[in-house]
Amino acid sequence: MINEFSTPTRTIMTPGPVEAYPSVLRVMGTPILGQFDPAFLKIMQEVKEMIKVPFQTKNEEAFAIDGTSRSGLEAALIALIEPGDKILIPAYGRFAYLLGEIAERAKAEVIFLEKDWDSAFEQEKVIKAIQEHQPKIVAMIHGETANGQMQPLDKIGAYCREHDLFFVVYTVATYGGVEIKVDDWKIDIAIAGSQKCLSVPAGLSLITYNNRVKEVIEKRYQLELGLSKKIRNTRHISSNYLDLSQIQRYWSEQPINHHTEATSMIYALHEGLRVLINEGIESSYARHILNDQAINAGIEAMGLKIYGDMDTKMPTVTPIMIPQGIDGENVREMLLNEFGVEIASSFGPLKGKVWRIGNMGYSSRKENVLHVLGAFEAVLLYQGAKIQSGKAVQSALEVYLK
Ligand SMILES: *Cc1c(COP(=O)(O)O)cnc(C)c1O
Repeated sequence: MINEFSTPTRTIMTPGPVEAYPSVLRVMGTPILGQFDPAFLKIMQEVKEMIKVPFQTKNEEAFAIDGTSRSGLEAALIALIEPGDKILIPAYGRFAYLLGEIAERAKAEVIFLEKDWDSAFEQEKVIKAIQEHQPKIVAMIHGETANGQMQPLDKIGAYCREHDLFFVVYTVATYGGVEIKVDDWKIDIAIAGSQKCLSVPAGLSLITYNNRVKEVIEKRYQLELGLSKKIRNTRHISSNYLDLSQIQRYWSEQPINHHTEATSMIYALHEGLRVLINEGIESSYARHILNDQAINAGIEAMGLKIYGDMDTKMPTVTPIMIPQGIDGENVREMLLNEFGVEIASSFGPLKGKVWRIGNMGYSSRKENVLHVLGAFEAVLLYQGAKIQSGKAVQSALEVYLK
């Protein structure tokens, strides 16, 4: 006999996945509906409208794609890219290279604009590179969780629109927790995910795009052979599963048959969006900023250093320099084993150099912040780090109670 598994209690303060809202977990136990059941189609149409709210867009198209955030990213890029197209990717952290990797596989001509990871780009620098390289597409990350930096986008978007380029932005780590203005910033496609500030389990990607993009996608529409032999297209999108021309129709009021919708995940998404919208996106942004201030105050009061430019730091991630002589992984392990607290390490040049404390969605709560700071201080002291003791939680309390 195999026993049912049991899970330990955790405080998850990573940049994703984060703790799910209790009501999200509850609705996932709702009985299954067939994917074309009118009761389910109604839920899908509500989800479609709700997805637009944190994106701050009036776009007609907004829907979910089955798969984690990168599935939406890949769907977006392969819908726009045709072989030989030039794409400019300004890179100020790890995830820009994922965009490049996907674009390269789609046979684009990829141009990276690179810089150190300790700050975002000055928008003028990106605009200069656009003028120099004349790409068809500019693709960027809004919040680089690997190094905790966030990119201002409004001027780049305005420039792209003026010159009829496509502007694609991956907003996975900011959606719902930080302001995103898809329409005002002239973003043509924005992509997010479920497991960060929405506090829904991993497994869905969210996407919205405007009519400029829709026009391109419509020109590439091909229906599956098994449904019709007539709708063939020499410019078809190279993936079937991630074909936006079909998925867009799947989410329309007259859905075509494509994949089997992950109905229980759509229940979860509906609930995550509902909770966020009822809280109010402005209130959610303010909550993330307040908790970020408390985390930063606590970290600095210990005498630890926060990595990177504070002016462009994401409110949803705090990267902390690991002090000399301390083994970052030992600290993380002890936090997990003794306190049930999970924080993250980092990647690439920052691997072994910084820890990352996430501050996202349902995990972004006062009691989590205070617990993580108290545990962090205790573990650092236990491991012999030379820090100011007794100050971290007090400094955070001052932020909350001032
Ligand atoms: C969390 C995160 C991802 C994760 O993508 P998944 O496909 O959902 O695993 C990717 N990029 C960034 C910037 C992230 O913060």
